[in-house]
Amino acid sequence: MSTSSLDQKQYFNYIGGEWVSAADGRASENLDPANGQLLGYFPRSAQVDVDRAVAAARAAWRDWRLTPAPKRGEILYRVGMLLTERKEEIARALTSEMGKVLVEARGDVQEGIDMAFYMAGEGRRLMGAIVPSELPNKAAYGVREPIGVVACITPWNFPVAIPSWKSMAALIAGNTVVFKPATDTPLSAVKLVEVFADAGLPPGVLNLVAGTGPEVGMPLVSHPDVAAISFTGSNQVGRDVNVEAARQLKRVTLELGGKNAIIVMDDADLDLALDGIIWSAFGTTGQRCTACSRLIVQKGVRAQLEERLLERMASLRLGHGLEATTDVGPVINAGQRDRIHSYMAVATGEGAHILAGGEAARDGDLAHGTFYKPTLLGGVQPQMRVAREEIFGPVLSVIEIESLEEAIAVNNDTPYGLSSSIFTSNVNTAEVAKRDLASGIVYVNAGTIGAEIQLPFGGVRGTGNGHREAGLGALEFFTEWKAIYVDYSGRLQRAQID
Ligand code: NAD
Repeated sequence: MSTSSLDQKQYFNYIGGEWVSAADGRASENLDPANGQLLGYFPRSAQVDVDRAVAAARAAWRDWRLTPAPKRGEILYRVGMLLTERKEEIARALTSEMGKVLVEARGDVQEGIDMAFYMAGEGRRLMGAIVPSELPNKAAYGVREPIGVVACITPWNFPVAIPSWKSMAALIAGNTVVFKPATDTPLSAVKLVEVFADAGLPPGVLNLVAGTGPEVGMPLVSHPDVAAISFTGSNQVGRDVNVEAARQLKRVTLELGGKNAIIVMDDADLDLALDGIIWSAFGTTGQRCTACSRLIVQKGVRAQLEERLLERMASLRLGHGLEATTDVGPVINAGQRDRIHSYMAVATGEGAHILAGGEAARDGDLAHGTFYKPTLLGGVQPQMRVAREEIFGPVLSVIEIESLEEAIAVNNDTPYGLSSSIFTSNVNTAEVAKRDLASGIVYVNAGTIGAEIQLPFGGVRGTGNGHREAGLGALEFFTEWKAIYVDYSGRLQRAQID
């Protein structure tokens, strides 16, 4: 944290259609996690900036909610076109501040593009419900209405995709938005909001306020003029947000952590399984909410799979995400690297073995960044902490099981339930797994990552509070139902009585 200086690139909040500094002029550094280079200074906002942004959003809501939804959709369509044009530029900025390799950063932006076109189309649907009335000459139907000002609070691991999921669904439904990005990824947020501004979104409809959780996030949650909160992040902060919002009976969607598993049965195609495991466990350096952190493997193939996995892991190249040769980028910051490393003592203390990795990577250029070696833990038992807690880094635990029944029981026995996968060539096994895996997302013969935006996204147990993002699930959250009755009989008709 330091005060901004004029010779460095300075970025701004976006409030009421204007790019502005934090009211008290404070700013924070944004660093590249792969080499520690300074990317720029971003507002370190406070309550007064939140108040201004909420006031702007509230004022803009009066017209935005009355703007026909197909017209709102036309703006989102232009957002999709502009994101497509700027995809490479935004992806490179995203890699620089977040660390994921460029091909994955392009995928992050692509999710924003997909969601823009999907929600643009919803502008011509936003389906309500028409039902028959129990009385003659009476109409009965339900319409979806916007809620008002919505706060979108997002994590750093998908700095374009997650804000796009939230804001685009909120906007098409007629809400206005105050967006608080993660402290580690404000640059991607600025790039995304620039696109909305250039696409012709009216002033105040989408506002950006950068800053910390306590200084910006919580004031947004408790602000009386914020009607709903869409939050993605850690379990602990999600609980705090929920408790605070409950004081004012606010609607909250929580998308929280995961402890996702890939199950590999004896009859699986091991080549395919290996590809899925490497991609799901070490893609995005293990920092996806859907990342695979448990490999639940049947006894007959456990030793072989472990050996082949170690071979594949040895060939993974760490480096800057913008280098074409890099397979695995840095983790987000030094604090997260230390947290990941702290789990090594936990693992060995409980009797697991470090089969690969288990330490920070500091060779050559890596010394300037926050890198952690892809890590494989063997001999893990389901009750160990490394098998139950979210580590959020490139760490995979191998758990051996005897049967499908045991695999499913182990999969389901964690505080989280986001994404599960099974590799098998037996159709009966696959059907039982689809039915009995207690997760919001289930994959058959694919890894745990790679959800598409047209289906609901979210999880069970501690992964959330039952809402879903993306797909039509998002519109359920961002709209209120209004039931409308029109009696054209010309006399008093009493429901349930006449
Ligand atoms: P985090 O909880 O630390 O922060 C998330 C957001 O909340 C950030 O914008 C942060 O500034 C803000 N925040 C922090 N403290 C706050 C407070 N007291 N009040 C209000 N806001 C506050 O999470 P993170 O480290 O940015 O992200 C990693 C976590 O996100 C992991 O647990 C991961 O599993 C989860 N995640 C979940 C999903 C999902 O859809 N289920 C997707 C991506 C990430």
